[in-house]
Amino acid sequence: MKPNVLIVEDEVSLMTMLRYNLEKEGFVVAEARDGEEALIASDESPPDAIILDWMLPRISGLEVCRQLRRKEATRSVPIIILTARSEERDKVRGLNVGADDYMVKPFSMPELVARLQALLRRSNRSQSKGRLTFDDIELDMDTYRVSRGGEYIHLGPTEFRLLRYLMARPGFVFSREELLNGVWGADIYVEPRTVDVHIRRLRKALNGQGSPDVIRTVRAAGYAIDKGAH
Ligand code: CA
Repeated sequence: MKPNVLIVEDEVSLMTMLRYNLEKEGFVVAEARDGEEALIASDESPPDAIILDWMLPRISGLEVCRQLRRKEATRSVPIIILTARSEERDKVRGLNVGADDYMVKPFSMPELVARLQALLRRSNRSQSKGRLTFDDIELDMDTYRVSRGGEYIHLGPTEFRLLRYLMARPGFVFSREELLNGVWGADIYVEPRTVDVHIRRLRKALNGQGSPDVIRTVRAAGYAIDKGAH
């Protein structure tokens, strides 16, 4: 369900920062250090979006962009170009080769994330994953945002998946094993107690504003999202 983003950047420190920030926002990140790697990577598994540096060794970002647009698999993948140049003429050239947006270095990370999410929303509109609601809680599966009573709540990626899982079947009591399989995956070994840790975090985040608890603990059975949990 997580959107895949390919970052094409030869500057290691910027790559690290981009990866860190995007993963924090729930993206799955793939890396390419130059244009050739980018073309190969996007051929093997077309990403949901591409962040593409303009100044790359050998093939420039603009040429990469042009080539991506010629391929069926990446024809309509949203592309944001990163550029150190700010001349208007260059911006226009960047957009002429088929980029959807551009950001001038140094840029603000929250702005990049916001623009990326906006592009993904636009490209996903026809295949929207929709939203789940429970009581005053809203979970948007396209933007990975959760709000309660209209206020945004910051959740870690595991808490987000856990909440999504619970909200898909309100009132249903999931055992720790079911949550482990559904949220972490059956092939990953996690101690059942880990579920309790993340439930605690989720509760804390959801109830932060003094809202009533909506997660019901059923002793020896598991957890459910439920009205009047206590
Ligand atoms: Ca560069």
